Amino acid sequence: MNDTADNYRLDRVTISKDAIRVRVSELASEIEREFRGREVIMTGVLKGAVIFMSDLAREIGPSVDVRMDFIAVSSYGNSSTSSGVVKIIKDMDVYAEDKNIILVEDIMDTGLTLSYLTEMFTARRPKNFKICVLLEKPERKKADVVIDYKGFTIPDEFVVGYGLDYAGKWRHLPDIWRVTDKG
Ligand code: 5GP
Repeated sequence: MNDTADNYRLDRVTISKDAIRVRVSELASEIEREFRGREVIMTGVLKGAVIFMSDLAREIGPSVDVRMDFIAVSSYGNSSTSSGVVKIIKDMDVYAEDKNIILVEDIMDTGLTLSYLTEMFTARRPKNFKICVLLEKPERKKADVVIDYKGFTIPDEFVVGYGLDYAGKWRHLPDIWRVTDKG
């Protein structure tokens, strides 16, 4: 892919906002069942997970003591291919040790980013470490990562919307769209 969004256009909606709403509420129920009566630090990976995590957190009832935190990462090297080596641009505000952490990410593509983050978080000795991902592209998988809460499985297509961007564009769209080459 090119560095500019100018060569790409929205093709079609692949997951509608209604389907997202239903699935997010199901995921929230799963988290609620598992963490009732306990504190959970939902840790979103900026910026892609912001919209997903905001909706997910609001679907979790008061029976769970939900806290919110964020990390920001950037991968070394080429931006369109994940190297798996991740630089932490912004870390959590609280210590993860002995805490219930749910890492919230927009999409798992090769899995290299999440594999790196899993190692990093595990070394911090949290009480529980769970991964919640909105989208997974299994065809591209290179690293074995256990996803505890997954929204949707999608084919190997580039998607935007609901927090996911292309060159900074289209994050705000309420549905998930496939993008395509203008040519
Ligand atoms: P991984 O390390 O799993 O290959 O990389 C995951 C990251 O690649 C995601 O956090 C996201 O930034 C980016 N990515 C992978 N596939 C897509 C896609 O279809 N759409 C968008 N917007 N980003 C993607």
